[in-house]
Amino acid sequence: MNKLTLQDLRKSDLQGKRVVLRVDYNVPLDDRLEITDDTRIRATLPTLELLTGAGARVVILSHFGRPKGKPVPEMSLRPAADRLRALLPGHRVEFVEETVGPRAEEATRELKDGDVLVLENTRFLPGEEKNDPDLARQMAALGDLYVNDAFGAAHRAHASTAGIAEVMRADGRAAAAGLLMEKELEYLGPLLESPESPFVAIIGGSKISGKIDVIQNLLPRVDRLLVGGAMANTFFRAMGLQTGTSLVEEDRIEMAGDLLRTAGDKILLPTDCVVAAKVEAGAETRVVERTGIPKDLMVLDVGPGTVDAYREVLEGARTVLWNGPMGVFEVPEFAKGTEGVALAVAEATDRGATTVVGGGDSAAAVAELGLAERISHVSTGGGASLEFLEGKTLPGVAALSDREAA
Ligand code: ADP
Ligand code: MG
Repeated sequence: MNKLTLQDLRKSDLQGKRVVLRVDYNVPLDDRLEITDDTRIRATLPTLELLTGAGARVVILSHFGRPKGKPVPEMSLRPAADRLRALLPGHRVEFVEETVGPRAEEATRELKDGDVLVLENTRFLPGEEKNDPDLARQMAALGDLYVNDAFGAAHRAHASTAGIAEVMRADGRAAAAGLLMEKELEYLGPLLESPESPFVAIIGGSKISGKIDVIQNLLPRVDRLLVGGAMANTFFRAMGLQTGTSLVEEDRIEMAGDLLRTAGDKILLPTDCVVAAKVEAGAETRVVERTGIPKDLMVLDVGPGTVDAYREVLEGARTVLWNGPMGVFEVPEFAKGTEGVALAVAEATDRGATTVVGGGDSAAAVAELGLAERISHVSTGGGASLEFLEGKTLPGVAALSDREAA
């Protein structure tokens, strides 16, 4: 990677320095504002351990939810700060109810080496999502250098992801990628630049429209593209098949047809499907050939024949990218396709392939199945990883210091 990373910095660059660390602590909360999954907080621990271990004074900025530029008490970062405190025993973890300004700045000056300060939700401020230069300057005043570990927010040009980094660099201060950000780029970058072949991509999920740019960018690079999820239905229609009451994007049928024509035999579609009358636990299910989808039923998962065929393709793969579940995996009756493919990807990893899973729902499926450890890299950045795979420049990455310049 040609961007400056935390690993390029020496201890002397960090000791006693106030480091503004942008993280993505946009964790799910329940009705009582308790965190139900702290994966995103845990994912930043390597960076935090490196920084605090080097004697840095860490100032954490993060967004949370969509408060739209004003304070919303239920979207405070306080619960995240409390959880972080529990995860970082032996360190002082403070929380201040401001994001920028005199009180926040004073709190950064009171930090001792190895301390951590969590500031309030960046999106409480109207300038954040507008990438307001004044706000970016106020954020830059909170520290001596900047580290961005919020890969999940890197596709947004916001004050705390892009603006602050530009202010830092303009001042001759460093703006570096954190360890999590670096790991994301280390795994996602080669998928587009130099994937070891055979490279097999598996694309599923609900909508072809959300993933069309990824499919188009990947097609020239992959050896095989395996399709599942509801988007397969849109392809079926392009082939002239009946899809019953299945979810179909009527306005994308033509596009799906074009893809099939240009992709030759690279695109593999399900040959059989699990169908039911409704998306409900306990629903009566049937396995049918794709040519025999009943007109009063809907496709809710790929069938066992498809799982076998996809597993066979994955057996020879050296690089695998998976984005989007094969069916409505949230309902046990329609989870088998996703389970089967997840296991086949884990087995590919065991055989030495590099495997990457992206997409929030796919990552959740892999975690639920207990297979995350058998995947080379499970991306934490849903929308950001999609945009990266579309070939777009991520503003939060582009704004960091170049390695040569360091
Ligand atoms: P990711 O978050 O991994 O990128 P998506 O958000 O694109 O995945 O899609 C996930 C959703 O797609 C899941 O909620 C799942 O229930 C839904 N889905 C998958 N297959 C089908 C199907 N055949 N019919 C309707 N919904 C489906
Ligand atoms: Mg999703």
